[in-house]
Amino acid sequence: KERQGPNIEELEKELLQGNRSALARSITLIESNAEHHFRPAQELLQNLLSYSGNSIRIGITGVPGAGKSTFIEAFGTYLCDDLGLNVAVLAVDPSSSLSGGSILGDKTRMEQLSRNPKAFIRPSPSSGKLGGVHRKTRETMVLCEAAGFDVILVETVGVGQSEVIVRDMVDFFMLLVLTGAGDELQGMKKGIMELTDTVIVNKADGANKRAALKTKAEYDKILHFLQPATKGWVSRAYTCSSVNNEGIDHIWNVIEEFSDVTKKSGVFEHRRREQTKEWIYSMIIDQLQFSFFGQPEIKELLPKVENDVIAGNRTVTSAVEQLFSIYSKQ
Ligand code: GDP
Repeated sequence: KERQGPNIEELEKELLQGNRSALARSITLIESNAEHHFRPAQELLQNLLSYSGNSIRIGITGVPGAGKSTFIEAFGTYLCDDLGLNVAVLAVDPSSSLSGGSILGDKTRMEQLSRNPKAFIRPSPSSGKLGGVHRKTRETMVLCEAAGFDVILVETVGVGQSEVIVRDMVDFFMLLVLTGAGDELQGMKKGIMELTDTVIVNKADGANKRAALKTKAEYDKILHFLQPATKGWVSRAYTCSSVNNEGIDHIWNVIEEFSDVTKKSGVFEHRRREQTKEWIYSMIIDQLQFSFFGQPEIKELLPKVENDVIAGNRTVTSAVEQLFSIYSKQ
């Protein structure tokens, strides 16, 4: 039975009924790097494509310690329990593709939400081949939507390129920050402020509350001078306390307003179309990289070429040209 691969029809039927175990198994199939899983996984996706697209996709980023998992726990629980929504939480872990380690997955996170029957939490996939984390997360979103999830939260750490990758796959993008904008902003890439639809100053409680309000005002000032991340939407800063459950509902109201405004103006649909196009191109680039660096002749020649270039014996252009001529002969 194992040799025949999974029963796609069965899996599809169960997933469409919202069966969590079927969803988990489907994601595992899609994440699999085993050659014989590729076709059935793509068949499943193809069949489910027409059931996808009906969620709001929300990206959440912030430095480690900003309170992302605590916020998602509070926010997700509010959406599930108070609003009756189905919430899927996915992660894009930039560290797994770089070092093999993990920033997001190393501690017990969102314990309460993980027990909620209306929530589904999935850790970051490992990269493997064929587009790695990026492709897997996009495809997992399709599966979650087909399984009836209304809200998809995609969490990432604000380091490297991961926030740009996540921005490209969500409708609404939020940046969680710590109190003390002045200090923090000096070390923060300005670029990320231009990607975000809102800045959330978390931990606005106790002795920190006043400072949080001041930080919020500072971020509002900065946002005011930047190009908005989304056409027709004014990005603003808000405060919340994830541990005290304060301001959480208001953040959802902001997202709903965003959804209304951008759907009316057509910006919402336009962005999704652009993202799908972008998806195609990023997969082509991924596949090219994979096939290029995976080619035995290239693998063999690359270290020699590197040494030659470093030693100053040949130009980078001529080295790359040689590699490509070998690649295209195959
Ligand atoms: P992450 O690394 O961004 O996921 O951050 P965590 O959610 O793990 O939070 C980092 C620390 O901040 C933990 O000790 C949390 O308990 C604390 N924290 C998170 N949210 C709040 C909050 O709203 N108020 C307070 N006082 N502490 C918080």
